[in-house]
Amino acid sequence: MKLINIFTGLLLVISISVNAADDQALKLKKVATNAWAIVGPLTNRTAENLGNNANFGFIVTKEGVVLIDAGGSYQGAKRIHQIIQSVTKQPVKFVINSGGQDHRWFGNDYFSHLGAKIISSAAAKKDHQARSAAQWTMLSNLIGNKGIAGTKEKFADITFKSDYKFTLGEVTFEIYHKGPAHTPGDAYIWLPQSKVMFTGDIVYTERMLGIIEVSNSRSWLNVFDAMAAHKPDYVVPGHGSPTTLAVATKDTRDYLAFLRKTIAAFIEQGGGAHEISRINQSRFQYLANYDTLHGRNALKVYTELEWE
Ligand SMILES: [Zn+2]
Repeated sequence: MKLINIFTGLLLVISISVNAADDQALKLKKVATNAWAIVGPLTNRTAENLGNNANFGFIVTKEGVVLIDAGGSYQGAKRIHQIIQSVTKQPVKFVINSGGQDHRWFGNDYFSHLGAKIISSAAAKKDHQARSAAQWTMLSNLIGNKGIAGTKEKFADITFKSDYKFTLGEVTFEIYHKGPAHTPGDAYIWLPQSKVMFTGDIVYTERMLGIIEVSNSRSWLNVFDAMAAHKPDYVVPGHGSPTTLAVATKDTRDYLAFLRKTIAAFIEQGGGAHEISRINQSRFQYLANYDTLHGRNALKVYTELEWE
């Protein structure tokens, strides 16, 4: 199935649905001559999506493929590999883990066995090691023993502190870790030749972002601004459709800034954590998963601000 859609008047995207009529399916979107986004569902992890409830991406070069994020399980990684193989027969040479969540790295072992080298920030590797067992328990509850079967933990082969640059087949890759955001080791991947930015969980569009236990909303804003300073033509977010920087700003940066400002004022006026539901977030009600996440996000920011 092939459909062509035009959004924001700028981007022409050919979208191929791999499992037609399945809202849990991964969708392939070409974002530049040599770069593809694999767009996952906006839902939680399920037995159908095998933990791939996020976006991934890959770049095809003359000397092999670079994959951004390994998928949420062994079988999830295999599904991503099948999509890559529908575009190219080139081998996957490198896998970049853009952050600490399971869908960024639980597929590492699959690609490692194919000969790929795994790259992440040192902070992300530390986060993987710290949260591996907890992520395993959560994931097996959500996708089931059948879904998680085959998955083994595999940490990065190559780590870096703040940035890592390399060239493969004449394509330049720049990876930057500018501080914690959604997770402690989040990094964005910049392709300077095509001006495409893969943001991992630094950017969410269409769905509400999650401020989780390990998130840092203050640093997240700075990391977003460092990413935006590259002025990308195309942004492939960690969740939601590939889009423009303007949409990324509206759905991620504006929400984070709004929450921090509103909750700081609420604390200033003596508001307690138990009254947090009084914060009116209806401006962001258009984002998917609003109902399940907005209250939790407010409470997490409240706790952060109390400590700052
Ligand atoms: Zn994520």
